[in-house]
Amino acid sequence: MNESSPSIAPTGPAPAVVAGMNLRPAARAAGPSHLEGTPIGQTIGTVTVVDPVFSCRDVNVHYGAKHAIKNVSLDVGKRQVLAMIGPSGCGKSTFLRCLNRMNDTIAGARVTGQILLDGQDIHDPQRDVVQLRARVGMVFQKPNPFPKSIYDNVAFGPRLHGLVRSRSDLDELVCTSLQRAGLWDEVKDRLTQSGTGLSGGQQQRLCIARTIAVKPHVILMDEPCSALDPIATARIEDLIDELKESFAIAIVTHSMQQAARVSQRTAYFHMGSLVEVGETDRIFTNPRHRLTEDYITGRFG
Ligand code: ADP
Repeated sequence: MNESSPSIAPTGPAPAVVAGMNLRPAARAAGPSHLEGTPIGQTIGTVTVVDPVFSCRDVNVHYGAKHAIKNVSLDVGKRQVLAMIGPSGCGKSTFLRCLNRMNDTIAGARVTGQILLDGQDIHDPQRDVVQLRARVGMVFQKPNPFPKSIYDNVAFGPRLHGLVRSRSDLDELVCTSLQRAGLWDEVKDRLTQSGTGLSGGQQQRLCIARTIAVKPHVILMDEPCSALDPIATARIEDLIDELKESFAIAIVTHSMQQAARVSQRTAYFHMGSLVEVGETDRIFTNPRHRLTEDYITGRFG
């Protein structure tokens, strides 16, 4: 990724760069950030990637009169995790929902701009939205297994999309999906029991297995660990790290530590605008916009 794009505003005295995350304002160089005056609405950093799964350009979302996403352009890259961070209400989830047209299901929501998935416009009238949502899977904040058996939770998508021809193929797909989600050993002897009887962390991994089973290109995650304890969170984070070898992942998180741990690229949103995007290490050690710096140092949010 080219971090020195001409779209990046002029350089100046850099804030203190400290190895790893630097969340303490006191540890930073004193004085105003060199980009303090950069207006909101002009993204700092390189919004494109060399190998995009998604290319989003000038995306706007309105909920009635509320302008929730303002001219956001951003790529999602293959085999990497993009973290979306920012204060509550800044539009992270709204932007995520644009990527599999989940905003279509919200009355009064209006999405404009161009969103290409593997070069194809997701708003093309010919586009089958059910197929789109299979290619762009989603994992929600609260685990939401179907009130069905563990097996049927995972088998549901492949059956719906006709991905397997025989029962043995389906068995294998259920098994490999549960293995990839790190759940197989815990559930292999109780596949007929209800998915809703699992612990919260197991339910979330079941939802990830269900998503993987339909062979998506991209997995969207909307605060997938916010209902989980630290141990279950760590398991999901390890899983995200493994899954990125096979899938593009875009994750909304309110935890900067989580963004720093799991992502390679971070996008900082503020009041519906994409303020800054860049390699995660750089965003957390050397943010270029004052708003990004204020957020990651805990001045607001
Ligand atoms: P975040 O994920 O960053 O917390 P959201 O995307 O949920 O932010 O919300 C962005 C803005 O859009 C907020 O002002 C929120 O109140 C508004 N919003 C979100 N969902 C809806 C909705 N279904 N109807 C109306 N306004 C909404």
